[in-house]
Amino acid sequence: MLGNLYLVATPIGNLEDITLRAIKVLSDVDIIAAEDTRQTLKLLNHLDIKKPLISYYKETEKIKSDIIINKLHEGKNIAIVSDAGTPAISDPGEEIVRKCIEEKIKVIPIPGACAFVNALICSGFSTREFVFIGFLSSNKKDKKNKLDEIKKEYKTLIFYEAPHRMKNTLEIMKEILGDRKIVLAREITKIHEEFIRGKISEILEREQEIKGEFVILVEGDEKIDAEKEFLNSMSLEEHYEYYLKQNMDKKEIIKKIAKDRNKNKNEIYQYFINY
Ligand code: SAM
Repeated sequence: MLGNLYLVATPIGNLEDITLRAIKVLSDVDIIAAEDTRQTLKLLNHLDIKKPLISYYKETEKIKSDIIINKLHEGKNIAIVSDAGTPAISDPGEEIVRKCIEEKIKVIPIPGACAFVNALICSGFSTREFVFIGFLSSNKKDKKNKLDEIKKEYKTLIFYEAPHRMKNTLEIMKEILGDRKIVLAREITKIHEEFIRGKISEILEREQEIKGEFVILVEGDEKIDAEKEFLNSMSLEEHYEYYLKQNMDKKEIIKKIAKDRNKNKNEIYQYFINY
């Protein structure tokens, strides 16, 4: 019989954020695969759980995934944990999940803390639609290119960043995205938890406060959002006429409408089939 793979979320600062189910699964599995075994050992000692640990980090993800898959084939139940938060979110996990799916091995999520979700819900920015980017490249050119690609996005943008790169990243964000409203969600669930809000330039002036772990949230491009709202307030026919007046052909219009309304192109095509 095949074993199950559990993706177990662990606290991002406050140990009380471990869930009852996470404790049960960590106590019941045969093996725990951890990003950093020393870090996980601290948590397991705190929970009084003793389990065989194997290390599983980004650089060894491919090789270690094969070892884990073999053990799952032997019928062992395995939990994956990262240093903090939800595995596979800017942390190892994606690779093993893909392999398990290929091998028809059951993958079970054990929900819990995730830094970006908690940063987003307290940001005051739109939680309806958002884009999670995670870490930008440390290469300046790649970082700029990525920001350039998403600068017209009207959805809330969410980034992770290492503490020592915060200042540089904020400066580049100001240059490429403009002096937008941002929120720095600092040290979530820890003693110095704080939500620092303001324009990028204002926050850069408070440089001495930029210490600790942060999630960076950037308000979406308001201009694009307003335009989208305007277009979505129209009937489909008005929306069509709006683009027709701009001398677009039927194919182009259908594509634009589908994009504006986050709809499937075929759905819009069917609606206008005899138009
Ligand atoms: N898998 C984790 C999760 O579920 O959020 C994220 C791991 S990623 C390697 C680490 C990054 O997450 C940090 O550089 C920081 O941007 C963010 N982060 C993690 N814990 C945080 C906390 N307590 N407060 C603010 N940001 C945090």
